[in-house]
Amino acid sequence: MTARRIKRCAGCRHDKPRAEFYPSPNTPDGLSYHCLDCVAERRTKQTVAEQERDRKEAAKETAELSAEELLACERMAEAIVAHRHGELASTPSGEPLDVPMQPVDEIAEELNLSPVRHHRLCSVALDMADAMEMEEAA
Ligand SMILES: [Zn+2]
Repeated sequence: MTARRIKRCAGCRHDKPRAEFYPSPNTPDGLSYHCLDCVAERRTKQTVAEQERDRKEAAKETAELSAEELLACERMAEAIVAHRHGELASTPSGEPLDVPMQPVDEIAEELNLSPVRHHRLCSVALDMADAMEMEEAA
């Protein structure tokens, strides 16, 4: 029995030389069901879909703060200002205070934020803290 030299692609349905298919250990003939072109095309589509998903994720990360997040930022800012004034001895949960951003991180963790969102809330809180201090100084 001679091995067939031509194989039909399950995607584009074209008969193509066996060299046009990736080897695959999971198929009866040891070759991928889809030809190289179809595999490449599918990869490109996946990449476009992934890019779209990443873009949406990024947009979500930079979206406006929710009321809950804004409240958390205000609490963070108050903690930052209190810490700057040396008035803060423990975090909201009563942990001893080691690093300046610890209470801020703790408040952010209550909201189960993604790292990017967490970072964003922290920077908003820092801006708020600066604004609070400027108001106090004025
Ligand atoms: Zn094909």
